Amino acid sequence: MATISLEIKQTASRKEKTSVPHVTELNRRSLESAALALLDDVLNGRSVGNVAMVSSFGAESAVLLDLVARINPKTPVLFLDTQMLFAETLEYKHDLATHLGLEDVRRVNPDTKSLVSRDPSGTLHTSDTNACCSLRKVEPLEHALRPFDGWITGRKRFQGKSRADLRVFEADGLHGSVKVNPLAFWEPDDLKAYFERRALPSHPMVLKGYLSIGCAPCTTPVEKGEDSRSGRWRGKAKAECGIHIRDGRVMRTGDKDQMA
Ligand code: SF4
Repeated sequence: MATISLEIKQTASRKEKTSVPHVTELNRRSLESAALALLDDVLNGRSVGNVAMVSSFGAESAVLLDLVARINPKTPVLFLDTQMLFAETLEYKHDLATHLGLEDVRRVNPDTKSLVSRDPSGTLHTSDTNACCSLRKVEPLEHALRPFDGWITGRKRFQGKSRADLRVFEADGLHGSVKVNPLAFWEPDDLKAYFERRALPSHPMVLKGYLSIGCAPCTTPVEKGEDSRSGRWRGKAKAECGIHIRDGRVMRTGDKDQMA
C-alpha cells in the first residue's frame, strides 16, 4: 500500500513538472533569451554591421524597444513621423523612450518640398494611398537608412499571410541592407506576457480597440475576433505601407481580409 501511494505521488509530481503552463513559460523564456542573444550579436556589430531599429511606437512596439534598450540604449531608433499620426502616438513615443532610457530616437520626416509639390492639401491618402505612403514613409525611410548596413523591425509571423513565412534575417532589396526580425516567431500571448513581466506602458489607444496603430486617416479600431491589422486601410486591398520588399517586389497588398 505504501508503495502504491509513493507511485501515485511520483506520478502527480511528474505531471506537475511537465504541466502545460510550465512548458509555456519555458518557451517564453527561450524566446526572450534568443531575442536578447540575437540583439547582442547584431547591436555589437558581430553579424550585420552598423544597424538601426525602425519603430512606429505602435501597439506592440514596446517589447522590441525594451529588448533593444536592455542590450544598448544608445541604439539609433528611427521613428517615421508621417505628419499624419495620432497625437497619442507622439506622446507615447516621448513617454516610452524616457521610460526605457532610449538615448537616440530620431524622428524621420517627409521631405518638405516633396510634400508641398505632391500633397499640398494633405489629402493624397484619400485618392492614392500607395503614392501617399511612398511620399511619407518609403522615401524618407530609404534616405534615413542609407548610413546603415541593416535595420531591426518588429514584424511577426502571426501578423498575416504576407508575413507568415518571415525569417529572422532577410535581404532588403530596396535599401541594399539586411533586415533583422527578432520577434518573427513570437505569438500575441508571448508579447502580452512580456508586457506584463516587464511592466511596460501600453499605447493609450490600445484600450480604445486599436490593436495596430498607423496614420490617423488610415487606422480604425478592431472589432472582437478580427485580425489585429484589419483596422489598417480598412476596406482596401492594401495591407502593407511599402517599406518592405520581398523577392524584389514592394509589399503593399496581402491577404488581410482572409486572416482569421
Ligand atoms: S498610412 Fe495613410 S496617411 Fe499614412 S502615409 Fe500611408 S496612405 Fe498616407
